[in-house]
Amino acid sequence: MRYKLVVLDLDGTIWDYPKTSSVLPEPIKLGKDCFFSGDGTTVKLREGIRDFLNACKDKGIYLSLASWNDPGLPSKVLEGLGLLSYFTHPKIEPHPYKDVMLKEIYADFAKDGIAISPSETVFIDDRDIMVQRVKSAFPDVLGLVYGVDFSSYYALKEMLLNRD
Ligand SMILES: [Mg+2]
Repeated sequence: MRYKLVVLDLDGTIWDYPKTSSVLPEPIKLGKDCFFSGDGTTVKLREGIRDFLNACKDKGIYLSLASWNDPGLPSKVLEGLGLLSYFTHPKIEPHPYKDVMLKEIYADFAKDGIAISPSETVFIDDRDIMVQRVKSAFPDVLGLVYGVDFSSYYALKEMLLNRD
């Protein structure tokens, strides 16, 4: 297995909602995989995401986040869904520079004595511009656009993890 770290975006990538900032101040959990947003929409986790995250953990691959959001609310939603503890050194910051977030993630892992190189990293976002920005800073990262480079998290699991 050659990948050591998978970094994911949140909005549109882990769940099907484009902007967590507009969720109610206290997100209301509706079920295991969905919650209620401030504009009346039900926000659902992407199909297969739990399975994918668990498969990464089982393979000893670190998971982290790079999300352009105000930090408080997305963390509450993740905690409510039981997912927050999956992520090591998650970055939820109010700017779109995910290359900077990835640099911070590497620095935090380095402080823990864990060296991870770009060629051992997968970056996943639903927006191509975000993937391109990360790839211009770290060309060796495997950058994948949700819905373009893979159709579901079950397919991604096959693609990344079930080849050895
Ligand atoms: Mg997104």
